[in-house]
Amino acid sequence: MKTLKSYVCGRWHEAASGFATLVNPSTEEEIARASSQGIDFGEVLAHAREKGGPALRAMTFAQRSGLLKEMSRVLRDHRDELLDLSRQNNGSTAPDGSFDLDGATGTLAFYSAMGKRLGDRTFLTEGEGVQLAKTEAFWGQHILVPRQGVAVHINAFNFPAWGFAEKAACALLAGMPVITKPATATALTTERCIELIVEANLLPEGALQLIVGNTGDLLDRLGPQDVLAFTGSADTAKMLRSKENLLASCTRVNVEADSLNAAVLGPDVAAGSPTFDLFLKEVAREMTQKAGQKCTAVRRILVPQDRMDEVQDALIARLEKVVTGNPADPSVRMGPLATANQLEDALRGLAELQQGARIVHGGAKRIDGVGAPEGKGFFLAPTLLRSDDARNAGPVHDREVFGPVATLLPYDATATAAAEVMALGGGTLVTSVYSDDAGWIGDFLVRGASATGRVYVGSQSSVGETPGSGAALPQTLHGGPGRAGGGEELGGLVGLRLYLQRLAIQGSKTLVNELAGVAS
Ligand code: NAP
Repeated sequence: MKTLKSYVCGRWHEAASGFATLVNPSTEEEIARASSQGIDFGEVLAHAREKGGPALRAMTFAQRSGLLKEMSRVLRDHRDELLDLSRQNNGSTAPDGSFDLDGATGTLAFYSAMGKRLGDRTFLTEGEGVQLAKTEAFWGQHILVPRQGVAVHINAFNFPAWGFAEKAACALLAGMPVITKPATATALTTERCIELIVEANLLPEGALQLIVGNTGDLLDRLGPQDVLAFTGSADTAKMLRSKENLLASCTRVNVEADSLNAAVLGPDVAAGSPTFDLFLKEVAREMTQKAGQKCTAVRRILVPQDRMDEVQDALIARLEKVVTGNPADPSVRMGPLATANQLEDALRGLAELQQGARIVHGGAKRIDGVGAPEGKGFFLAPTLLRSDDARNAGPVHDREVFGPVATLLPYDATATAAAEVMALGGGTLVTSVYSDDAGWIGDFLVRGASATGRVYVGSQSSVGETPGSGAALPQTLHGGPGRAGGGEELGGLVGLRLYLQRLAIQGSKTLVNELAGVAS
């Protein structure tokens, strides 16, 4: 069995004990083990702070852009190998693995292009300079400089490549060294990504380190110039963000957590119309892509109340076609959940959801998967629930079941009701609205927009052109209020700001402009 290693202080560290076992979720075969025991986290931080940070800060955006370009290339060159690891450890079908891996290389390439445009500068200016007194003898200008600490990235199990790459792209381009920690249970793909980058000798020493296994006392050592970016469950986020030292030193913490994303069918969308078909196709895909293990997956489906039966039947017809099983079998369209714990948690969650809704398709128990040994594998059939009282659906609005599970909910066809029911989720990453009526969508936005980080509009005019609501694109914001963690990632320059310190420079206009590199 392979032993995964951490990459720290410029060398590979293999632990001697304390191992967690990684399994193939389709067969339950043991494939690797991981542990971080024996790592001196003080040394790891010092290595990043003393070597990686200064080297990156000495580079211009254009030079850092070159690093990201090469990282993207190396991962792309090993796409097939990485997809195979994702199949083995995450149970990903080829399209699901590509969603993760191509997302990783695409995001690195996007930020590389952005760095090139930012050019031969080591810091950014923000906004226009402003006169602060009667004359230009007193002037102000905001600038953004790299923070002189370390970016610690803790990722969830579901995106082993993209999770690492989307965070690393922003931090490295901003000029901060990275310590990345994938979820232990699915660390196989991330470990290989880092190994490929290290073997290609692309980055300055100390710019990128990897921890497989737990983080020991790493987080207790973070201070005022460091950044912690976390993706995972709301419970872990709450525990981490309340750490005494992080609070005391106001360490920046960004959280991407649970989200009960809603898809809303507008009242104008007739059965059989292109927008209706888009709605059905995308909702079914959002439920089943990566076996529903996506923070952006649709969990609640809001439908005008007199259309509930029609939508239920049409969605079930699509879900019935999904073949669940071992992605090694070519007929399979949906793989297993990633771990035994995830399956147990999903089954517990389904039991909870049934306090406010009833199952109309699928079921609340493990199934055997096509192409998998009998009795083995963490398979769950696509499962659709229905509640006929959206405002009293209880756990449907606060329990994320991280699997191929969603609930149909009725609303009275008004934008106000749709927005109110959507907002019961307590803050989401994305809300998708399927409608061709700009007035109705506008009303929905006025009432509900602040409860979500992104509104995706599916309409006749975008059929065939969009990747669906589940794709977190680097150009636009990924993050949402409330339950979704309150964080902000990606979104072009927005994603860099976490790693940059904004400060105002005040003085005479001539001097300020000279310091900020602005033409007077
Ligand atoms: P999790 O159990 O909270 O774990 C997330 C990460 O936190 C893992 O790397 C885990 O490491 C680490 N961790 C746990 N306890 C820790 C501690 N005491 N100190 C340091 N690190 C610790 O979540 P998960 O089950 O992997 O992920 C599923 C959740 O992530 C879902 O709720 C989903 O909504 C959310 N998610 C959100 C987004 C988003 O962008 N908003 C994206 C993907 C997933 P170990 O594996 O070693 O325990």
